[in-house]
Amino acid sequence: MIMDEKMIQEYRKSVCDAGFWVLDEQFKTDEMMNRHTSFRVGGPAKLYIEPSELREVIILVQMAEKLKIPYFILGNGSNLVISDEGYDGLVIRLGERFSSIWTEEDPEDKDAVYMHAYAGALLAKVSSAATRQSLSGMEFASGIPGSIGGAVFMNAGAYNHDMSEVVDSALCVSASGETYTVTRDEFDFGYRCSRFMKEGGIVLTVVLKLHRGDKDKITAQIKEYTEKRTKSQPLNYPSAGSMFKRPEGYYAGTLIDQTGLKGLTVGGAQVSEKHAGFVINIGGATAADIDELTKKVREAVKEKHGVTLEREVRFIGIGYTQDR
Ligand SMILES: Cc1cc2nc3c(=O)[nH]c(=O)nc-3n(C[C@H](O)[C@H](O)[C@H](O)COP(=O)(O)OP(=O)(O)OC[C@H]3O[C@@H](n4cnc5c(N)ncnc54)[C@H](O)[C@@H]3O)c2cc1C
Repeated sequence: MIMDEKMIQEYRKSVCDAGFWVLDEQFKTDEMMNRHTSFRVGGPAKLYIEPSELREVIILVQMAEKLKIPYFILGNGSNLVISDEGYDGLVIRLGERFSSIWTEEDPEDKDAVYMHAYAGALLAKVSSAATRQSLSGMEFASGIPGSIGGAVFMNAGAYNHDMSEVVDSALCVSASGETYTVTRDEFDFGYRCSRFMKEGGIVLTVVLKLHRGDKDKITAQIKEYTEKRTKSQPLNYPSAGSMFKRPEGYYAGTLIDQTGLKGLTVGGAQVSEKHAGFVINIGGATAADIDELTKKVREAVKEKHGVTLEREVRFIGIGYTQDR
């Protein structure tokens, strides 16, 4: 065990001394992560804090670094499997408390408007704020259930669009607690990846460059995407969306379907009958069930098609090697 009661109290004191008077309701121990993941799995996080201001996040990171406490940034928990044994460290949740959105005109380009969002703002909220102001660019993201910070980290996308097309810059904090700005060309975006996956760094605020459009067209496009999603995805079950990345030249869901794996079940985890690319929680699934099921799927697909599937969903916590 890394994080014991003494360390938790020492951390709280150092955070307070640095100027963040963390309230009791923001500071939780042994918080169950199944309450914060769309898959509804995950054991206790030793320490869980929901900051509401930029400087609070910076203090949390700086003090965690100072006391060598492992930490992990949780957005909306929609691309995660957190270990049944939990997370032995600090979870910093950038959620509702950290989700303001505002816009700024571009003095040089009458057609463009910059939309600023704190990392915890949900994509649905950002997308509807854009629609209300007749701004185009975020239509593709309206049905992705993540936060804007998580979406930048993942370079989330759908319908042949992704975050790399709209992100102008982001204010970030490094693992050592220093703030820096990342501009458009520096994100190193690729398919479902960004520089943050490789080098750490936390997205604090995001600036999107959107364009003035026609409100009716924007609304109609969102409606079309929503209908497609509802028709093709098992949205009535907990999941983390597509379990695997799209292998070059293939669709993971098609390969899984062609391998005859729809309905394959381990404990409470199942390959969706509606969309083979989704693993769903049909009731009482554990992280271990999901882990085992995805390994079975990988093996079977490799054997039948010779294609190696890579997980898009991130497995975090005790027993898993991904640490962010
Ligand atoms: C039903 C369903 C449908 C989905 N459809 C899509 C889809 O169409 N396209 C798609 O791309 N994804 C999809 N997803 C997956 C998911 O919504 C996206 O990956 C989303 O971007 C994750 O954001 P989040 O805030 O939930 O991140 P989390 O799940 O909380 O975290 C994911 C990763 O991002 C990191 N992270 C989160 N916030 C920050 C931050 N501020 N700074 C640095 N790192 C951060 C976390 O540490 C973690 O490693 C779907 C999921 C579900 C459940």
